Amino acid sequence: MNPNQRPKHTGTVYLVGSGPGALDLMTVRATRLIGEADVIVHDHLIADGVLELARSDAQTICVGKRASNHTVPQDELNRLLVRLAREGKMVVRLKGGDPFIFGRGGEEIETLVDCGIPFEVVPGVTAAAGCAAYAGIPLTHRDHAQTVSFATGHLKDGSVDLDWQALARPRQTSVFYMGIGGIGEICRQMMAHGLPGTHPAAVVQNGSTVRQRVVTADLATLPDKVKEAGISSPALIIVGTVVSLHRKLAWYAPILDTENRNALA
Ligand code: SAH
Repeated sequence: MNPNQRPKHTGTVYLVGSGPGALDLMTVRATRLIGEADVIVHDHLIADGVLELARSDAQTICVGKRASNHTVPQDELNRLLVRLAREGKMVVRLKGGDPFIFGRGGEEIETLVDCGIPFEVVPGVTAAAGCAAYAGIPLTHRDHAQTVSFATGHLKDGSVDLDWQALARPRQTSVFYMGIGGIGEICRQMMAHGLPGTHPAAVVQNGSTVRQRVVTADLATLPDKVKEAGISSPALIIVGTVVSLHRKLAWYAPILDTENRNALA
């Protein structure tokens, strides 16, 4: 860039969470920033219709990542954010859910810090909170779970390297993000570390959206049930006795899952 054309101000990067999927679960702050941004750099997995809130002259760049298809390497993405801010742009880096929960938000703002780029972080409703609410599965409950753990179920070389002892504790809810590919291994490990095969477990696909599907089972049968139902990503696995509350507390049924259908019959 010609030094005479260099902008006087460095732009700010807003690292924004777009929530679990339903547009109206996005924060007011996120909605406002999206409507003001010069550039929106977004993931594949963001709330439906969110880009329609952008200015008509805003630039949108998809750097989407599907499980095994990393379109833009992380360091290239970090450099892109720095370049756009140095051009004086107001940049919204839009992510699904919350930017600091399995969102690599930390990595992206570390680069901004190193390069002296001003930034702000806008939290969002993380998938666990969104799916739990819309599936009628409270993550904590005085009679069931006093702690809740969020883990990544992403497979590395066919296995999931986690502290299974901690995740399989009784009176706890464990939530696995990115776990559908590894669901067999996850359920096996939870049983190998002390939970019975009858321990309740559920999968919520596309939680909070009109495409939401919920499958409830137990650790022994969940992988087969999920396969039979044809569940695919994005989906969350919830393990804990709180899952048994779904039958009574489910209130959202855009596409009726088997259990809701039976309950309503
Ligand atoms: N930062 C995001 C998580 C990104 S990791 C957040 O806070 O929610 C991506 C994973 O999130 C997906 O593989 C899936 O496990 C989960 N996920 C995101 N949105 C979801 C949805 N609407 N329903 C079910 N799972 C979802």
